[in-house]
Order: sequence, then C-alpha cells, then structure tokens
Amino acid sequence: MNEKMNMLQIDGSIGEGGGQVLRSSLSLSMTTGLAFRIRGIRAGRRKPGLMRQHLTCVLAAKEVTSAKVTGAEIGSTELTFIPDAIRGGDYSFSIGTAGSVTLVLQTLLPALLIAGEPSNLDLKGGTHNPMAPCFEFLDRCFLPELAKMGGKVSMQLLSHGFFPAGGGHIKAAIQPVDGWKEISLMDSADIDRRKGLVLLSHLEKSIGSRQVRMLKNKLNWPESCFEIRNVRPALGPGNAVVLEVERGGHTEVFTGFGERNISSGKLIDGLIQEVRDYLCSDAPVGEYLADQLMLPLAISGKGKFRAVKESLHTRTNLQVIDQFLPGYLNIHSMEDGSICVSAE
Ligand code: AMP
Repeated sequence: MNEKMNMLQIDGSIGEGGGQVLRSSLSLSMTTGLAFRIRGIRAGRRKPGLMRQHLTCVLAAKEVTSAKVTGAEIGSTELTFIPDAIRGGDYSFSIGTAGSVTLVLQTLLPALLIAGEPSNLDLKGGTHNPMAPCFEFLDRCFLPELAKMGGKVSMQLLSHGFFPAGGGHIKAAIQPVDGWKEISLMDSADIDRRKGLVLLSHLEKSIGSRQVRMLKNKLNWPESCFEIRNVRPALGPGNAVVLEVERGGHTEVFTGFGERNISSGKLIDGLIQEVRDYLCSDAPVGEYLADQLMLPLAISGKGKFRAVKESLHTRTNLQVIDQFLPGYLNIHSMEDGSICVSAE
C-alpha cells in the first residue's frame, strides 16, 4: 500500500504520447530508485499500449534492477515498476520483431553506466527502422557524445535488421562511469568530414547506384564520400541511406529508408532537406540527438548543449525528467530558434 502511495504517477499521453515517455521513465526509475505507475502508455500512437520493443524494455529493466512489475503484457496501457538495486553483468534480450534494439540499449544505458560492474549486452531485433536511431546514429553520433561525458560504451553490429523482417543483432560493452565530465556542446565549426552510406539487403545494386548519383549531384559531395554496402545476409529486404556530417569534433547522422511505395527521388530529397536544415543552423546538436542526450545530461548533473530546435520529443522528455529529477534540466529558447539545454 505504502509503495503504491509513494509511486510517481506518469501520464503516458503527455506531449508526443509515444514510447519515449515509458522508456525515459524506466531509465530514470532504474537510476533514481523511484517507483512509478504509468497510465495511458503510448496513448498518442495509432496502436496504443506496449508493443514488443516497449515490452522488451520493461522486461530488460526489470531484470537489471530485479524490479517488481505489474502490467508487463503486449497491449498493456498501464504498468507499475518498483526497482531494486542495479546489477551490471551479461544480458541477452531478443525483441522478436523488427522493434528497435538501439532504443532498448538506450533505455538500459543510464543504469548500467552507474552499475558497480561492467556489462555486456546482446540484443536482437531491428537495427535500422524508421522512427528510431539506427546503429550508425548511436555509434557515430550518440555514443561519442556520451564518451565525452565519461560513459564508455562500444558497439558491434553483427547483423542488420530492417523493418519489417527484423533479424538484426548487436552487442554492446558498457564500462561504469568513473566520474561524470561536463560537456559543453554549444558552437559548431566548418565541416571536417562527410560520408554517405547506402545499405542494401536483398535488393538490386542499381537502386544504390541511383541513390548515390542523386546524392552526389544534389549535395555536391565528391564520389569518394560515398559507399554502397550489400549487407546480406539480413533476414529480409531493406534499403537505408545514412548521411554523416562532422563539424568541430561532433558528428550528426541523418537516415532515410527505402519503402515500396516511395521513390528514391522522394527519399533522397527529404534526407537532403534534413541535412540542409541542420547546416543552416550553427547549433551543433540535431533534432533527434537533442532529446536523446537529455537523460545522460540530467543524470550526470552537469553540462550543456545547444540544439537546432525544440522538438516535441524534447519538450516531452523534459516533462518526464522533471518528475524524477525536478529542476535538474533547463531549456532556454535562443533568438535564432535554437535551444540551450543545461544541467545545473
Ligand atoms: P518514440 O517515438 O516516443 O518512440 O521515440 C523515438 C525516439 O527515436 C526518439 O528519441 C527520437 O529522437 C528517436 N528518433 C526518431 N527518428 C530518428 C532518426 N531518424 N534518427 C535518430 N533518432 C531518431
């Protein structure tokens, strides 16, 4: 009874009303030790409730903290989570669909970074799905910034998993943080490096050649920036276009996915627009990295970054963080439309 009364009450429908509210609550509960009840899980999505990726996050968080959990079922829109102590070590989790392994990894990272021992994660599911960070995003964009904060995580891609077939496999090795460092990611610089990677699984190489030709013409990047990689044996067909831009020691990653009913022209134009919007701003942090860096920043308790704009994911994450760690993070809007996120 007492436990229930002390639980933080999380409204899963706030802001984005997506899986992030649940995942951030799990991460924050694991790291702070505070129990929570969430209602209206993914209320803002077309199919609300726990899907396999979210359920895997819940079960993984449960295992790592020996938590008491109710409501951990597919379709569930309500759950309670009472964590115990964090236990690092070796863990394997399989989503069973193309649900994103990177989102499962990000859910567990804050806790495993403050565990008493190193951890190794073996994760199976999707590695390249729309609406989630792909493997390259974590590897080149998110983890390097985490490393600057003192979080040492290395990742290995063993097989690609595209939506809808899945079948991807990654491993991650996590060293506990030995003293958080303060990041200051406020200004960008000239472009140091550009890369365009086209991933193809069970598809004609000509698709990749056409996409590279379009990218080269429209971006005006030299041929040497591009690579077409055939990633057989992935389980099913897949086509991802991953662009990397490095400025002043920070890399941003932009991803587009080929779909049956979307022409390569449309995919490439959308992706190029994303890169141009990013490069128009002199803020170093892109839209997606911004909401993903907020949890490590809040948990480390120090540092700041400037992001191109305030997204709904960013606003939503601040609301969730404020419930577990009130006042730890601030967001200031700047005159040029960028935002400064800081931890005091
Ligand atoms: P949700 O929609 O609530 O499940 O959260 C999705 C998460 O995936 C957020 O943290 C987004 O920042 C992230 N995300 C979505 N699309 C991308 C993308 N193209 N690149 C990197 N991260 C992404």
